Amino acid sequence: MSGEKIKVIHVDIGGCEGCSVSFLRSLPLISDKCAAKTLYTVDSIDELLENDVDIAFVSGSVCLNDEETIETLKSVRRRAKILIAFGSCASFGGVTRFSRGGQEPKPSHRTFAPLNQVVEVEYSIPGCPPPPQTVNSFMIAYQRQIVTQLAFFSKLSEFKKLSGFDLIDDIVLTGLCMGCGACEVSCPTGAIKLIERRPNLIVEKCIRCGTCYVRCPRAMQLLIRGVKK
Ligand code: SF4
Ligand code: SF4
Repeated sequence: MSGEKIKVIHVDIGGCEGCSVSFLRSLPLISDKCAAKTLYTVDSIDELLENDVDIAFVSGSVCLNDEETIETLKSVRRRAKILIAFGSCASFGGVTRFSRGGQEPKPSHRTFAPLNQVVEVEYSIPGCPPPPQTVNSFMIAYQRQIVTQLAFFSKLSEFKKLSGFDLIDDIVLTGLCMGCGACEVSCPTGAIKLIERRPNLIVEKCIRCGTCYVRCPRAMQLLIRGVKK
């Protein structure tokens, strides 16, 4: 790629701000590679969308009943060469996927979905939230065009949901699990406990973020080989 800095924006369309803060914290790590803007560094979303950009990181799931948010997402899509679903809500719907109407602060909303249900998404970076180091790793892979790493994030963008339930079905019940414990330490809610080196899912605690699946070395092999569809 040329020596010019990669133009990057971050837009949140309905997350809890955890992903926004994580992206903000990544700025010192990626500033050598990117000219990055977020809603925290400009006055309005219009300022973020006034020019074309190379990459748009978008966090939060999209409410299918919210025309304004859908239009914002489509505007980001038109401006960005590459759109990244950043965080588990954007990637898989996360906990909001299972929300229904009546809740504050958007009582009229009933259905939340991952971004790839509404617009084309090139890469997904799940996590609740993804750590700043992951943003930096992605940007290094993108800048150097490290095909194997980019292929992993690209593969993730094909999924509309991924969670601890998939981990149990695909890895534990099939006997692929080697008891390494990566799923347990990566889970943000403590929904996975290893008992005698076998992961057990506490279903009430699972927020469907998919982090355990992405961190599991066995699951990663299934994803990269295209076995998991
Ligand atoms: S088990 Fe934990 S890491 Fe896995 S999807 Fe559920 S909340 Fe996320
Ligand atoms: S991360 Fe994967 S291989 Fe490791 S204990 Fe969890 S399910 Fe098993």
